[in-house]
Amino acid sequence: MKKITIIGGGIGGLSAGIYAQLNGFDSVILEKLSQPGGQCTGWDRKGYHIDGCIHWLSGTKPGSELNRIWKEVGALEGVEIIHPDSFMCFEQDGQHAEIFRDLDKLERSWCELAPDDAEFIREFCRDVRSLQGFAMPVDKPSDMMGPLERIRMLLSMKEAGRVLGKYGKMSLPQLAGRFGSPALREGLGSMAPKEYNAAMIFFAIAGFTNDDASIPAGGSLALARRMAERYRQLGGRLETGCEVAELEISGRQVNAVIDKKGRRWDGDHFIAACDAHFVYHTLLQGRYNDKAYEKRFRQPDRYPLASEVMVAVGFKGLMSEVGDTGIPWSLNFPIDPITVGASPIERLTLKHFSHEPEFAPPGHSLLVFDINQFHTDYDAWAAMDTRSYKSEKQRVGQAVIAATEKRFPELRGRLELLDVATPRTYQRYCNAWRGAFMAFFPSVQGKMMEHNGRIKGLNNFVLSGQWLQPPGGLPIALTTGRNSIMRLCRQLRKPFKS
Ligand SMILES: Cc1cc2nc3c(=O)[nH]c(=O)nc-3n(C[C@H](O)[C@H](O)[C@H](O)COP(=O)(O)OP(=O)(O)OC[C@H]3O[C@@H](n4cnc5c(N)ncnc54)[C@H](O)[C@@H]3O)c2cc1C
Repeated sequence: MKKITIIGGGIGGLSAGIYAQLNGFDSVILEKLSQPGGQCTGWDRKGYHIDGCIHWLSGTKPGSELNRIWKEVGALEGVEIIHPDSFMCFEQDGQHAEIFRDLDKLERSWCELAPDDAEFIREFCRDVRSLQGFAMPVDKPSDMMGPLERIRMLLSMKEAGRVLGKYGKMSLPQLAGRFGSPALREGLGSMAPKEYNAAMIFFAIAGFTNDDASIPAGGSLALARRMAERYRQLGGRLETGCEVAELEISGRQVNAVIDKKGRRWDGDHFIAACDAHFVYHTLLQGRYNDKAYEKRFRQPDRYPLASEVMVAVGFKGLMSEVGDTGIPWSLNFPIDPITVGASPIERLTLKHFSHEPEFAPPGHSLLVFDINQFHTDYDAWAAMDTRSYKSEKQRVGQAVIAATEKRFPELRGRLELLDVATPRTYQRYCNAWRGAFMAFFPSVQGKMMEHNGRIKGLNNFVLSGQWLQPPGGLPIALTTGRNSIMRLCRQLRKPFKS
């Protein structure tokens, strides 16, 4: 039986491991951290469980290829899916604009709010509607498709191609600037990093309004644990607390990997399901660099990477009891600017977890604020010594609390800082390059890349995980792990089983 050694027990590595076992390989996953999941995680603080990942999960709607794969790996089988009525509410100058799950309601409410924008709102909603039937073909990577399958794929992507053509070269602030309504202009403009091309908003809203981008109950860590359990049930071996530090290479073959404790793990094949920069520059020491990645690593203006500061706050009370109607599940509101990293932050997004009562002590609520961070922000965090880093985290956390209390005076004195994660946190825990939580995203200037994971000069060592395909994210980690095993089966002339 051929042996596969997988580096990294995030969603990409777990997926590779599950399909390795399903296809008759003997596999082991080596994971640096004490638990599986990588960036798909959560952690406990002061009686709360802080969910560190899933805002939305593509593939929650039964019937799609992606949903079938999520179920196959045990991530969604028998799991309740939570569909919030509204994805986000934008607040500005007394106006409220909500991204409702019901697209007709969204269109009606936006037109009522901003009659002068009605024509563009209708066009916007028409374009969203045209994508609701679109599902990314994920059963096979494009490099393994035959000519007919490629034609079928291209045909299935006709509407997606149209929307990409229309908005792909427009930045998000440019799109948002077409709305006269302050809530729509300011809110939509801040919904994603400003370098993102505007097309992604249409795909995201289409997925949400089509129930295909919702939330699995139990959160991120529980999802990863279900996949790890499935892997173990299939006979896989998951070694946690095992950080790979070196590779033993002879000629074009990797013979073994060596972990930090000096243990040697051999294999016939190796899959590195972890950060691409870490693989090329640390494990492979820059000797097998790939032009496509190097170009992107060196041009952060064209290929920006996003990280974030996450501020987790406990509230002594229930969000449904605040004000007359409670606070929406996710509220984006203006604040007096706070410097975070190197940037002035002018809006906050408050998300609460009232749908997960177990995440907070009885009668309490968990609030999370995600603040995007980019190149210069990372540099600012990275330059701090340990003492100033700790006090800066406290300062940002308290500033977020003060801004929230200013907006909601009734919360005053009832908010407690639980934790602050920064780009350094993601780097330290997951070896994430510059703290990136997703791969290179589709920006206005950059070109999309789909990589097959092959590393030139090595025959039995491949890259997998979210870095193979923009923009990364959980579905890409899932499908690239599976694809790595599919490609290996073809190389070994074995049929792929799923
Ligand atoms: C705050 C936040 C919110 C997010 N929200 C969403 C969302 O709503 N929807 C969505 O789809 N995606 C979201 N993502 C992105 C998603 O979490 C990632 O795309 C996905 O988890 C990446 O999976 P991966 O397996 O490719 O990589 P990773 O999760 O990075 O896994 C790599 C694993 O390798 C391990 N590792 C690294 N180096 C070594 C080594 N030397 N030896 C052994 N192990 C090693 C790491 O510890 C890690 O466990 C979010 C991410 C973050 C941080």
